[in-house]
Amino acid sequence: MRHGMSGQDRLIGRIARIVGDGGLLADADAMAPYLVDWRGAFRGRARAVVRPADTDAVAGVVALCREAGVALVPQGGNTGLVGGATPHESGGEIVVSLERMNRVRRLDAADFTMTVEAGCILADVQAAAAAVGRFFPLSLGAEGTCRIGGNIATNAGGNATLRFGNARELVLGLEVVLPDGRVWNGLSGLRKNNTGYDLKQLHIGGEGTLGIITAATLRLFPRRRQVETALVAFDSLDKAVALFSAARERLDEFLSAFELIPRIGLDMALEHVPQTQDPLAAAHPWYALVEVSSGQTAIGLADLLEGWLGEALEDGTVADGVVARSQRMAAGLWHIREACVEAQRLAGPSVKHDVSVPVSRVAAFIAEAGAAVARQAPEARVVAFGHVGDGNIHFNVCSGPGQDRARFLEAAPALTALIYDIVARHCGSFSAEHGIGRLRREPLATYLPPVARDQMAAIKAALDPGSLMNPGTIFHGAGDGRAGSGRATTGEP
Ligand code: FAD
Ligand code: ZN
Repeated sequence: MRHGMSGQDRLIGRIARIVGDGGLLADADAMAPYLVDWRGAFRGRARAVVRPADTDAVAGVVALCREAGVALVPQGGNTGLVGGATPHESGGEIVVSLERMNRVRRLDAADFTMTVEAGCILADVQAAAAAVGRFFPLSLGAEGTCRIGGNIATNAGGNATLRFGNARELVLGLEVVLPDGRVWNGLSGLRKNNTGYDLKQLHIGGEGTLGIITAATLRLFPRRRQVETALVAFDSLDKAVALFSAARERLDEFLSAFELIPRIGLDMALEHVPQTQDPLAAAHPWYALVEVSSGQTAIGLADLLEGWLGEALEDGTVADGVVARSQRMAAGLWHIREACVEAQRLAGPSVKHDVSVPVSRVAAFIAEAGAAVARQAPEARVVAFGHVGDGNIHFNVCSGPGQDRARFLEAAPALTALIYDIVARHCGSFSAEHGIGRLRREPLATYLPPVARDQMAAIKAALDPGSLMNPGTIFHGAGDGRAGSGRATTGEP
């Protein structure tokens, strides 16, 4: 029972008037799904979950919270893997979910652009573009759940980065509610617009620390009229990287995906994920999923791909391979790629590293880091896979069968430090596509040069002087010590 009206009640009451019916969740059951991340690695509490239906409502909520000194945590589809969308355990924050802002505002087929609200699910954005004969290329395992605002806030990469770039390269303009409650309308569809600082770039990959993205103007491409998919096998990783290099030359802009799958990942998928089939007669240590695609029909991609792979088979770069004869077969090959992720979640605890190195160093990095893990944690299994065409390897260390869970997790931080040092020696990044969130603040402090850190801190202080916009994400902030601090768990792709 409450007696009288506290400041907190008054704030929540005023927010409720702004966001209207269905816009405010304050009871524990309704809030629960917004307070834990996809992996179950981060859990928090909140004063309320607010679900505004339009930009003005977001701005109104931000202005009220600023006045009251209450911090906000923006949230999209809640599929992020670094804890940036989960509030702290203090319960002092308000989660702002964009999920009700899911309208397509404009589809300009002639301009190859579309303007969508931040809460649109990525798969719905793809479908809306396809409905007018256009293609929106951003694609990742979580596309049925993640939302475009979250994709932009994390600068998501995924399976088509190789050809189309990550989210940053697909955004032409943004609408953002700034920490002071003002709305910045930067929804330009222009390709060329050199009018001073490119402000949208601060919010792309900003992980919600500089404002709340409410809408975006996106770049579209011609509808894919040809898509050809193959799975090829190699007897060494060097050959896989050599084939990628050759593919870039021979297939040029037709090459749209080149994903690495290790045999151990396929084995885990065969064991744990239904409907996974071994695509080739014999086992090989490494595989790559290769996709070529185009909006044109003048050059036949099936012949191009088969001719080229035939040569690679002959000269020994490729040990075996299969080209998909139907869309169903292609989907089966992609299933192997995604099942590799799901299988690791099912196979027990693991420590994840979303790293990148120059493509030419991928094989050396995997060999060196693999040897280091074998020395330090001989029971563990390394599953190194992913977007090898971008130099982005998901270097995951999984516990061995029957290995003691607690002991494995205890040894994890030392393993991670070892791996990040090897990444640094290979001129790589400890965070290729998933961001910093709360999980990777320590390596940010270790590996980012002070001159870069100072610029980031200055930008944060200028735009969000009260540190009310997603505090504790990227930067250590007011919520620290209250947070789950990123323990090793299962599930990061
Ligand atoms: P959320 O998890 O809700 O939020 C992520 C971050 O963005 C948080 O810091 C949050 O505060 C902030 N944020 C969300 N919305 C807004 C907004 N409107 N304004 C400001 N800040 C906001 N990522 C890749 O890059 N490539 C992959 O291949 C990939 N594959 C994945 C596969 C699976 C199975 C899963 C579960 C995740 C994968 N991810 C991948 C990670 C994740 O899906 C992406 O980072 C995605 O872009 C996050 O979108 P979201 O809407 O779920 O964001
Ligand atoms: Zn990935």
